[in-house]
Amino acid sequence: MANIGYIQVVRHCNHFCGFCSNPTTPYEHTLETMRELVDDFVRREYFGVILTGGEPTLHPQLPEICAYAREQGLHVRMITNGWRLADPDFAKAMADAGLQLAHVSVYSVRPEIEEKLRGAAGTLERAFQAVENANRFGIDVNINCVINRLNADHLDEGIRYWIEHHPEVRHFVWNNLDPSMGRAEVNQEEYTPRLAQFEASLFRALTLLHKSGRTFRVEKVPLCYMADFAWASTETRKIVKGEERIVHFLDAKQTVRQTDWEHVYTDVCDACSLRRICGGLFDRGDGYDPAELYPVFVSEDAVVERIIQDPTDPSFPFRNLGAWKRDFGERCRETLEKAKATARLPVVDGPAVGRVTDRAQRLFESKRRTEAKKAAALGVAQEGAEAGPEDAPEER
Ligand code: SF4
Repeated sequence: MANIGYIQVVRHCNHFCGFCSNPTTPYEHTLETMRELVDDFVRREYFGVILTGGEPTLHPQLPEICAYAREQGLHVRMITNGWRLADPDFAKAMADAGLQLAHVSVYSVRPEIEEKLRGAAGTLERAFQAVENANRFGIDVNINCVINRLNADHLDEGIRYWIEHHPEVRHFVWNNLDPSMGRAEVNQEEYTPRLAQFEASLFRALTLLHKSGRTFRVEKVPLCYMADFAWASTETRKIVKGEERIVHFLDAKQTVRQTDWEHVYTDVCDACSLRRICGGLFDRGDGYDPAELYPVFVSEDAVVERIIQDPTDPSFPFRNLGAWKRDFGERCRETLEKAKATARLPVVDGPAVGRVTDRAQRLFESKRRTEAKKAAALGVAQEGAEAGPEDAPEER
């Protein structure tokens, strides 16, 4: 399987999004601890790693860990707000270090909305410059967008812009907002969208991308809100292919291994033809309303075939629907048995190497003071402070 893991290399950021689900913590990584996490992915035979945060470009040794991961044979990616990548010297350094793909996150191409969502001015121009720099130095670019209440009605507007001004961008990733953690949890009212608020504009955006030959993925959106493009759902693809995902968090959670892609279902799901391959309603944080779900009646086989026969995705061994059905039936039985034996909790089984150090604690306290002012200026709540572990490991 083409599993891809995540490493949060820092948890602070130079922007201040009111819906950040992974805000500042007092933990830090050294080059040595990040290497241990890369080695963990290599041992598990992962295909690639995504360096993320916070804002990963704020880690002073990002080029070094990027080069190390590449030397170990991983496909190396990064999720960034693009602020530092807008500096051509930094973009070149990352390209020289072996970065293959940058996911640049842009939420809206309306400057006033982007500024409000980012809690900082001038971010849109820098994100555009980051895309140009990456292109110039041979780093592939995807655009990431978190769907939220402020951009829900004009997701397609961004796509029109990208197609016209940056035709070289060929892949887009939509993430519906995770209202269960960090700043997003304490600002649900302001940012968590209703599913119906983005249904039409998401459909228009995906149609534009599809017609123009671009590819895309959508996460945390139940299939009834993207039934025409069900094959592009991240959860559905993972359910169909039996993939897992590991996130090395830089907080008390440390390593989380996700193998279960099913969220919450209601009675209407029993009548739905896509129930077996749908991730359902993202329920963590209680931000979404189960009453918004409705059953759809489209062919499961057609969705599955589209995924397992995708010529751009060689990660699934069975290209044939019959072989998939046998394999899937077996996996469903195993999952059922496991569910009977255990609670549905994420598995934690990786190296816990993120550390609370004196230096990280000082940075954390200073960031918290600055962020309290930014929160007040933006009119949003600041999340509760992440405490260190009760018996913090020694500094290393
Ligand atoms: S009704 Fe339920 S199973 Fe069907 S697409 Fe919606 S969330 Fe998924």
